[in-house]
Amino acid sequence: MSDTEHYPMQAKSDSENSLIVCGAKTRTGTACKNQPMAGKKRCRMHGGASPSGKDHWNFKHGYWSKEEKQQRTKLMRMMKAYLNEMQMT
Ligand SMILES: [Zn+2]
Repeated sequence: MSDTEHYPMQAKSDSENSLIVCGAKTRTGTACKNQPMAGKKRCRMHGGASPSGKDHWNFKHGYWSKEEKQQRTKLMRMMKAYLNEMQMT
């Protein structure tokens, strides 16, 4: 008997896709080794099953979305630069 016969599941997951893992931090502090859902970055235990962004049922206004946050930080930076300039002159 060979090792592959002992562990048929491991032998099967030895494909290209097995390199891609969820990577979410588990309760034990290690990275999740589950395979992500199709087209997602996380496994079904870590949000891969739920839609993201506007498709999520908890989506309200996008105020906390990545894009909005980036816009706000950019604006704040511009404001600060402007205020600094005002103080200089
Ligand atoms: Zn996971």
